[in-house]
Amino acid sequence: FTHTMATDFIQHIASVICICLENNINFETMRRTSLVDPLTGVNNRRFLEQRIEEELDRSQRTREPLSCLFLDIDFFKRINDGYGHQAGDYVLAQVAGVIKKQLRSNDVLSRYGGEEFVALLSQSDDKTAGEIAERIRLSITSLQIEYGYQPIPVTISIGAATFQPNQAIKKPVADIAVQLIQTADAALYEAKRNGRNRVENGGVAPICNSG
Ligand code: GH3
Ligand code: MG
Ligand code: MG
Repeated sequence: FTHTMATDFIQHIASVICICLENNINFETMRRTSLVDPLTGVNNRRFLEQRIEEELDRSQRTREPLSCLFLDIDFFKRINDGYGHQAGDYVLAQVAGVIKKQLRSNDVLSRYGGEEFVALLSQSDDKTAGEIAERIRLSITSLQIEYGYQPIPVTISIGAATFQPNQAIKKPVADIAVQLIQTADAALYEAKRNGRNRVENGGVAPICNSG
């Protein structure tokens, strides 16, 4: 800085700071959008894959159970075929909103695939998970979705599974995550097989240290 510079120096510093701030905002926006599903506004599978390991770590540390719900809209293909894909998209967004409303703010909801969602319920044992799943199922059944003045009835099937922390478990959290999701998925399959629009509770996921 010299006395001939007047405010040029400050202006120069201000533009450098502006660029830094803009870079930070852009980076943060990009990081967020890469973890959110644009259609439903809930988190995507990539976010779930990061969070499930953090949640399992926390569960092992605090010795509090973690539950997982696998949710799948029933006969969604029929909705697309009968009312059109735009109506299907609308239904997906509505259903995601209703599920999110039934969860606590620190629970994780992600769109796992097409018409499938996974929810992680912290500090929830298998009994609580079953109750929350049933509450979600009922709220979807009683939802009155209309698209272009046409009512679209929607139901959902849910599989639940719980991780019960235990000192004897030595498995890496990544492997526990796979087993927990698999147990919830198997329970969902049972819910579909048993007639849909129902909850099946897979209970505590069997986590074995070997294999
Ligand atoms: P089930 O009760 O056994 O789950 O039957 P389903 O019809 O729901 O399941 P299926 O796997 O046969 O069909 C899922 C459909 O979801 C097929 C696919 O076209 C549709 N789908 C996936 N992603 C989207 C999306 O983003 N928007 C819309 N509109 N449809 C989607
Ligand atoms: Mg499906
Ligand atoms: Mg389905």
